Amino acid sequence: MQVKDISRTKSAELYEKAKTFFPGGVNSPVRAFKSVYGTPLFIQKGNGSHIWDADGNEFIDFCGSWGPLILGHNHPAVREKVTEVMQNGMSFGAPTALENELAELILTNNKFIEKIRFVSSGTEAVMSAIRLARGYTKRDKILKFEGCYHGHTDALLVKAGSGLITFGETSSAGVPKSFADETIVIALNDKDALQKAFAEFKDQIAAIIIEPIPANNGLLLQEQDFLQFLRDQCSQNGTMLIFDEVISGFRVGFEGAAGLYGIQPDIITYGKIIGGGMPVGAYGASAAIMDNISPVGPVYQAGTLSGNPVAMGAGIAQLTELLKPGFYQELESKTTAFVSAIQQYVADKGYTLKIFQLGSIFWFAFTGQEHIRRADEIDAASMAYFKIFHRELLNRGVYLGPSGYEVGFISSAHTMDDLEKTKLAIFDSLDIVYL
Ligand code: PLP
Repeated sequence: MQVKDISRTKSAELYEKAKTFFPGGVNSPVRAFKSVYGTPLFIQKGNGSHIWDADGNEFIDFCGSWGPLILGHNHPAVREKVTEVMQNGMSFGAPTALENELAELILTNNKFIEKIRFVSSGTEAVMSAIRLARGYTKRDKILKFEGCYHGHTDALLVKAGSGLITFGETSSAGVPKSFADETIVIALNDKDALQKAFAEFKDQIAAIIIEPIPANNGLLLQEQDFLQFLRDQCSQNGTMLIFDEVISGFRVGFEGAAGLYGIQPDIITYGKIIGGGMPVGAYGASAAIMDNISPVGPVYQAGTLSGNPVAMGAGIAQLTELLKPGFYQELESKTTAFVSAIQQYVADKGYTLKIFQLGSIFWFAFTGQEHIRRADEIDAASMAYFKIFHRELLNRGVYLGPSGYEVGFISSAHTMDDLEKTKLAIFDSLDIVYL
């Protein structure tokens, strides 16, 4: 059934004004709605699983601020804790008991790290983890995988060149070629390329960094066997394995992907959920590795707002909820039922859509392949389907991140009613996509 386009009058006005202030009218590029229809929606408020835009349109939200909001918007426990902390001031640049409290909550419930350092974003966590790996191993090169995103630190704004094992090419202006020369880029799920890289750059690779659940360029689920292979190869070659768990950390379980796959990385980076919607990142490792960081060790890393009390409060409140018995099981079974119902509809209709899912993360792949494990297996032409799908869903009150390469998230705030309504909106939207 066709429906009317939502009104975007106020959002469009705000966007025009924003364009005079910010490059492209936004403070982070994907928000500009470049790969979907219409102007960006300016969001006014969120509550539970719902958000409202400046024109008063209401949506069931599956973006969740790109992952942090595992409890939904404006969760009472988080709001109350933040409000309580703020009564005593916003920032001191001195230690507070709240930092201890959040660290203790994490470290006593996560056997994969012994010490942690809080920073203010995922990018900062990754940048610091790379420096730590280089400082610890006294090597310069790092290896990353095509299709994994690790924030906008120079060393990682690098994409594969041509050939099996390549020095990367910068994927942003302003990144010196000499930086990219220290970054090797290979395809995910490619054991041969990994072995060749270790042979060619013997004793030079400080770290391999991977999103163990790659969720920034589709959801490129890796097999446990590949991740274990990385672990073994790193151990044999004196290279550190960094799991970038900025998305997967606290999302697929309190111990993230490390816990899910039972693999011990050398360093883990976190962000998003750890801050309950406030700007927080973190990196952690064994005490022996972490004690290489200043002021005890030679690897420098600092931050005016690191361990900010308000952000720590939000993190404490959110993570406390996640530790309640059954939290992750419930989230996962809700998501599985939702995804299966859509997959069934798709099968009945003969549409070429596959929904990849892990825990409460899902991704609509309009190419229909059974497995997609590498970035180059995604058919770019299939994004045309997503563009229509996105518009139709907005028109039916469902908000997905504005790019077909982005995953969606289900939060504990999504009710059965929300998911039922969303399913019907998805069925109708798919009928239009495949018209
Ligand atoms: N690493 C991963 C896996 C991410 O998904 C992101 C952001 O989406 C980052 C790092 C960068 O985090 P931030 O945007 O907080 O700087």
